Parts: sequence; C-alpha cells; structure tokens
Amino acid sequence: MAPHPQDEAYELSVSDPSKFWATQAKQLTWHTTPTTAFRKSTRKLDSGVSHSSWSWFPDGEISTTYNCIDRHVEAGDGDTTAIIWDSPVSGSKQKISYSELLEEVATLAGVLREQGVKKGDTVIVYMPMIPATLIGILAVARLGAIHAVVFGGFSASSLAQRIEASQPTAILTASCGIEGAKGPIPYQPMVRGALEQSPHKVAKTIIWQRDQSKWSDFRKDDGERDWQTLVDDARKRGLKADNVPVKSSDGLYIIYTSGTTGLPKGVLREAGGHAVGLNLSIRYLFGVRGPGDVIFTASDVGWVVGHSFILYAPLLAGATTVLFEGKPIGTPDAGTFWRILEEYKVNCFFTAPTALRAVRKEDPENKFFKSRGEKGGLRHLRSLFLAGERSEPSIVTMYNELVKQYGAPNAQVIDHWWSSESGSPMTGIALLPKTAHNLDDHEFIEPLKIKPGSAGKPMPGFDVRIVDDEGKPLEQGTMGNIVLGIPFAPSGFTTLWKDDERFWKSYLKRFNGEWMDTGDAGMIDEEGYVHVMSRSDDVINVAAHRLSTGAIEQAIGSNSQVTEVAVVPLPGQMKGHVPFAFLTIPDPPSDLLKDLNGRLRHHIGPIASLGGVISAPGIIPKTRSGKTLRRVLKELVENGLEGKYDKEVNVPATVEDPAVVDKARAAVKEYFSSGAGKEIKAKL
Ligand code: AMP
Repeated sequence: MAPHPQDEAYELSVSDPSKFWATQAKQLTWHTTPTTAFRKSTRKLDSGVSHSSWSWFPDGEISTTYNCIDRHVEAGDGDTTAIIWDSPVSGSKQKISYSELLEEVATLAGVLREQGVKKGDTVIVYMPMIPATLIGILAVARLGAIHAVVFGGFSASSLAQRIEASQPTAILTASCGIEGAKGPIPYQPMVRGALEQSPHKVAKTIIWQRDQSKWSDFRKDDGERDWQTLVDDARKRGLKADNVPVKSSDGLYIIYTSGTTGLPKGVLREAGGHAVGLNLSIRYLFGVRGPGDVIFTASDVGWVVGHSFILYAPLLAGATTVLFEGKPIGTPDAGTFWRILEEYKVNCFFTAPTALRAVRKEDPENKFFKSRGEKGGLRHLRSLFLAGERSEPSIVTMYNELVKQYGAPNAQVIDHWWSSESGSPMTGIALLPKTAHNLDDHEFIEPLKIKPGSAGKPMPGFDVRIVDDEGKPLEQGTMGNIVLGIPFAPSGFTTLWKDDERFWKSYLKRFNGEWMDTGDAGMIDEEGYVHVMSRSDDVINVAAHRLSTGAIEQAIGSNSQVTEVAVVPLPGQMKGHVPFAFLTIPDPPSDLLKDLNGRLRHHIGPIASLGGVISAPGIIPKTRSGKTLRRVLKELVENGLEGKYDKEVNVPATVEDPAVVDKARAAVKEYFSSGAGKEIKAKL
C-alpha cells in the first residue's frame, strides 16, 4: 500500500531537510532570498563544552510583518478581515481588515520608533486580550525589534523578573485587563511595582487606556505615555514606519516558559525559521489555507499557542483570526465558544482540553452545542484542535461525535502536541489538500485516522523518538523519554535568550548532545502514533514499574462522574511511589477508593492501585494556559503526610486562580486529619 501523503512528507522532511525546507521557504517573500535552507555548526560554550548547533536559512533576510500584512494588501486582499475581536466581558466586538491593520501597525511602529525603539531592542508587552495587543506586537516586529509578551495580570514580581531578564527599551501595557466575571483588574500597581523592583530602567511605558478602569495619572518624568494620544498625534502628521527586515537568525520574540521552579527560561524564536515553520503548520496541518478561512484559537496571547495561532500563523496565511476576551464558562455561559463558531463561521477551532472539561462540567448534555448544531450553525467547522496537555480519550471521543454530527463533512477532533520550545505542533493529523503539494487547494484528502489518546504522528522536521534514561532508543510500544533528533524543525528554538549555557544544560546535556530533551514521557505505538502520557517529572515509579499520570488518570476517568482528575506520587517506604488522586465528583460514594482501584486493576493492573483519594469541588489548580499543576498538589500531599498543612508551596506565577490552591490545601488538611489519612500514613 502506498504511504499516506502525511507519512511521505514527513519522511522527506527528515531524510533531506534542506530540500524540504527550501521548498517551503519559497512560499514566503524574502528581503534577501536564502541560498541554503540549513547549516550545521558547532557551538563552543565558555564552560568548555562543544555541541552541535544549526541555523535555518542562514543568509536570508526577512520581515515577518511584511509577510503577515503588507504582502496580502499588495496582493489585493486588503478588504479581507484579518482580526475579529469578540469580548463578552466588555460587551465589545470589532472587525479589522488587512488594510486597516496595515495602517494601524505602520502608525504605531512610527510612534514606537519616535519613542526610541529600534532594530534589535526588546519590548515587553503586558496586555489583555484586545486588538491593541496584536497591533502592538506587530508594530514591535515591524521595526525589527524583539517582543517579549508577558501574561497580562502577572504579579509585579513576575513582571519584574522578566523585565530584568529581557532588558526592554519600552513596555506596552493597558490600563486594565478583564478577568472573566471577576471584572477589571487595574494594571497600574503591577506595572509600577515591577518597574520599581527591577534594577533595569525602562525608558518608556506606553499605556492603552480602557474605559473599564483608567490609568489614573501619567508620570511623564518616568516615561509614562498615553498610547491613543501618541497615535492620534502621529496620524495627524502622517507618521508611519516601514518594515525593517532582519537576518533569518535574528530574534523575533522571546517567550518565557511556564516553569514552576527557578528563573523563567527565555525561549528565543528566530525570524526566518518561525515564519517558514508556522506557514507550513497552519496551511498543512490545520488546513487553514488563506482568505476565506476563519480560525478561532481560544488561548491567551501570552502563551506560545496564542503567539502562533491567534496571531502569526493566521496572518501569514492571510486568513481571519478570532481574538476572544472571555472564558469558556461564565462569560456568560458554557455556550460562548459555540456562539463564536456560529457567528463567525469558524472553520478551525483550537482550544485546550481543560477548557472543554470546564464546558462539559457545566453542560454535561451538550445542550448549548446541540441547539446551535441542530439549526445548522456549526456546519463550517472542519476541525477542533486540542493541545496544552494530554487529552483523555473520553473527551476526544465525545467532541468527535459532536463535530462529526454537526460540523462540516468529515469534521474531526485532532489532538496535537507542542511546546514553547517547538513553536509549532510536533505531532498531529494533517488536513492535506486534495491536489498534492498545493496548499491553496481548499479540498481535503482523507486524513490519517485519529486515535483518541494519541497526539497523532510527527510533523515535518520533528524527529520524535522514545529513549531510555541512557538515551538508547526503545522499542515501539514501550514508554520512555520523548526526545527529538537534531536539527529541530525551523519553528523550534536554537537557544535561550542570551544563555547558550542554560540551553545546553536544560535540553541537550541529559543525552550528551545527541537528543533534545522535551521533558515529556510517552510512547510511539506500532503504527507510529505518538502518545504523550505525562511530564517526565510526573512519572510514578511503583515497585520499579514506570506508570504515567496520564494512564492512571485515564483509567480513573472511566468513571463517568469524574469531571476532573489529577494524580500525583506519594513517597512510600515499601514499593517506591504510591499514586494519590485529586478529583472532582459531584456526589462521591463512600466506597470511591474501592471503585477507582477496581478500574485501575482492570485498565492497568493491581500495581497502579491508589493509596488515597480526595474528592472535592474546585481543588485542581491549573495554569492560565490550562495545564494541571500536579507539582503543587504533590507538595501539598507531601506536607500533609508530615502534618505541615500550612507550609508554603511553590505556586508558579502562571497559576490561573490561587484560591484553588487554598481550597486544595484545606482539603488535604481535612483528609490527613481524618481516619483515611491516618490509614494511608500507616500503609506507606
Ligand atoms: P508549554 O511550553 O507551556 O506550551 O508546555 C508544553 C508542554 O505541554 C509539553 O511539553 C507537554 O507536556 C504539554 N502538552 C502540550 N500539548 C500536549 C498534548 N497534545 N498532549 C500532551 N501534552 C501536551
């Protein structure tokens, strides 16, 4: 049987990367066309270590914003809608065409240049989910400067840490963010607090005023400026700035990883590889080809998914992107996503599994989805992409049935795996055009089948392998460390911002420079599908068996009452770790532990038995990008075992709602003060 075109493209990308990527690079407009796609070299570190390094399109020069905006306007697509803003929390909606976007971005770039921002500078963007944020990011990039977006709403000290790390010339911010039903959060105390804490002095703070809560007074001497006033003035003078092309290997942006310990790592994204890799990713994997296609990525622009699939990839393709300021539930209800899909005729929807779990909890019968679907409102939807953490098969299957029934013909759910470091999906199921290699063709060939529980097959350029702790490749079907061959695909990073040494230590040293460590654990099955089961740190070692939190959580989730679950290892004396579960179940039966252990015996084996379980509403903390903070829960139970209920735990700045940690702490205290808690202590 002939290989599927997805497999064929992948093989070519790893067997002859230069040829494969040179073809992809031709899809974009270069200021200086690269003569070669790829060059390998050796990087020598101050510590004496040498490791292999690589660069993409080394002698090319490019402007990402030219490719995202000007190119489409010049091609006659200026009237196509570039951005749709939908903000139920402020009661606003807005559409911005490519021509309007060009005008806005060029004007703001002119302003920023006058305010002292130049090629190679860094600029921090600390903003909510409003159009000005996207315009601000693009204006920075238009000048050849490097943006570092920090989640709007981060504390003053987290922001100060990032200011110190990236040494920006300016900060773009807003007077407030609006956090779901909680209302406006003024940014002034956070921004001023951060600037006071940071030894690095930032020359200019440019503030977008929102009506919901205003920046109260402008400290001109400290460089505070009113964004709208500057832009109005620039417009009167006809001030604009043109695109400043940069070398392919120059930075486009820095993104800080959501690490829970130590200083955040600044992943550096290079201009050329990013544009080529993302352009392929959105058109090839997502099937979003260009004008006429609408993509809605329900994420935060502060996360890599937001950078790539709210902003850059849709614009590179010339498509329409939906920018959503709201939450999956509560703004105003669990039907918000489906309303947006219908209202804007969305073809491609992308969210995190945690968002769908929240929706399922509020609307277990999927009434909101079905009522729109039954009237034909969702028939434009071709795909629902999920990433951010593992999607358990039950959530994939449930939504797959819904989109198959109510979406476009052959619509499906696609789980795909990626990270801040990779910049674009490393695995997935591609929605390929009917005419081979013609990414302008809107018709699709039959994609590879999806397998709920797997994140699909490797994407072009991502040489995914499973190895043991010594770096030796493991057989198909065996769980181990997920690593990547070098070179990493063009959208991936080649180093950390001004920290080659840490890049080596964090990603390459573990496997002696042979493989890039992804920090994830999982397996590749006999058909080549990748199953990402947990972070390597979350692997649970029971009597020398390595069990993944993902597999245990999946088995527990077979109890249909469980809406959310997180499993963590408890340190035991006898057989290594003992799994412990936190879950949310409306009316937990008294024999819950027995029920769950029966399921674990059936799905995995008696080895996976839980030592204990805590069930209560709202006790599973998550990051704003939808990742379960297992490490926080693990620290809480470890402290609980020692009776140190009030001991501080390491909560990362990315936490969505710190109150959930307090609730979990209270539940742990109650548990360990009870009979069940005493029993488990005796057993360990
Ligand atoms: P971040 O760099 O913050 O985007 O986090 C990247 C991490 O999220 C990955 O290393 C995985 O642990 C996790 N992740 C992302 N997508 C998936 C997925 N589809 N399945 C399982 N884990 C995922």
